[in-house]
Amino acid sequence: MEKFRKTGLIAPIIRVIEEEKFEKPSEIQEKTIPLVTMGKDVIAESATGSGKTLAFASGIIKDCEHGKGIQALILTPTRELAEQNRRAMKKFSKYKPLDIIAVYGGVSINPQISQLRRADVVMGTPGRILDHIERQTIDFSRLKILVLDEADRMFDMGFKEDVERIIRKCPVNRQTLLFSATISKEIDHLVQKYMKNPIKVSAENQVDPTKLAQSYYDVPDKQKFSLLVHLLKNERSGLVMVFCNTRKNVDFVANNLKYADLVAIAIHGGFSQDKRNRTMDMFHSNKAHVLVCTDVAARGLDIKGVTHVYNYDIPKDSKEYVHRIGRTARAGKEGKAISLLSSWDYDNFTRVLKDNDLKIKKEEMPEIARAQIGWIADRRESRGNFSRGNSRGGFSRGSSSGQRSSFQRGSSSGQRERPRGDFSRPRRESSSHSRSDNSSDIPRGYSGKKSSWER
Ligand code: AMP
Repeated sequence: MEKFRKTGLIAPIIRVIEEEKFEKPSEIQEKTIPLVTMGKDVIAESATGSGKTLAFASGIIKDCEHGKGIQALILTPTRELAEQNRRAMKKFSKYKPLDIIAVYGGVSINPQISQLRRADVVMGTPGRILDHIERQTIDFSRLKILVLDEADRMFDMGFKEDVERIIRKCPVNRQTLLFSATISKEIDHLVQKYMKNPIKVSAENQVDPTKLAQSYYDVPDKQKFSLLVHLLKNERSGLVMVFCNTRKNVDFVANNLKYADLVAIAIHGGFSQDKRNRTMDMFHSNKAHVLVCTDVAARGLDIKGVTHVYNYDIPKDSKEYVHRIGRTARAGKEGKAISLLSSWDYDNFTRVLKDNDLKIKKEEMPEIARAQIGWIADRRESRGNFSRGNSRGGFSRGSSSGQRSSFQRGSSSGQRERPRGDFSRPRRESSSHSRSDNSSDIPRGYSGKKSSWER
């Protein structure tokens, strides 16, 4: 505890830390809390799970007083991260209570308007914060601290201009804290423009590479889902996250896992915010052990006890891969990241492997039983031959109408349709896959002004 005291944390926060039984400050906390509590502008290069919430909470809880208007704003890329930050801030401010609210899209704006009148601290996503600015329902005249959380992610998602518009509405005389896993040129530009003599600190990723085993299976297209079922049933695991690139694939995987008697829940941007919150609560409280998700869940969220991360689809590059696998092997625990590589994943996997630091071991295909496919996305697809549809990426092209089909003829042939071997020279026999299956809903959101799951 002495180490925490030395950082400059105020007594009410130390009390919470004692209750939480934190033994020592994380690297980013040790480096940033002294600066933050002195009122300096800070650029912190730190990954998800590094303990950065306490780092910015230390200054906010010290400097903000209840009932004196909005004194701190934390901008986050996703609604889930806004909620998570709100919960963490609430916890850390237990002995110096502040009115802390989260403001994001996808839910009614009216309750937020009344909450904003009495809020001391606001967490929010850029789109909804701008809505409030335009409606003049948010007042930044008393703002002292601005935090840009996961700044690289906000920029990736196309929020750069929105973030700048919001910054320009904040008082010039303020403290600005920027947290980002990577510091890009765009972030540098923002730093030059809007921060005052910032001090840069960085910390290693909290994920310990010696505790994280990474592997992949080069699986025939038709056996991919069966392999996932096999692994889920045979690997001893705690909480499991299965990442897909598209909403349709999330629906496909989550719905069909139920036929294998696996309790899976799904989260992607197509669900209402209410449903997303309920899903995350179920997963947090261990009521469901398998969470099937798009990258909406890859960043920022701190979920304890995730032992396995599966890439049912391979992410588009190493950056996204690293964020996904960072959900496991946290805080000294062991974890496994397992990628299921089918023909349409080769291009993405080649890009992932450009990161020479990633050591991903190839596993041999085990003997597996054919898993039942009881749900497919589109009835039209179901009338055809499923094996054909599947091997051509059919399930991904269907609409996510949620229709059920009694069609259950998955292919059992297990025939190899293409030569197996070294994926690093991508083969392109199935170019149609690349077009259809990799047409992720997420990247489309990134390139636009606001993602479909933000607004
Ligand atoms: P964060 O990166 O802020 O989302 O924190 C990740 C997780 O680590 C949260 O569950 C925190 O409660 C926890 N945490 C933060 N700081 C410490 C610490 N010094 N020791 C142990 N756990 C911590």
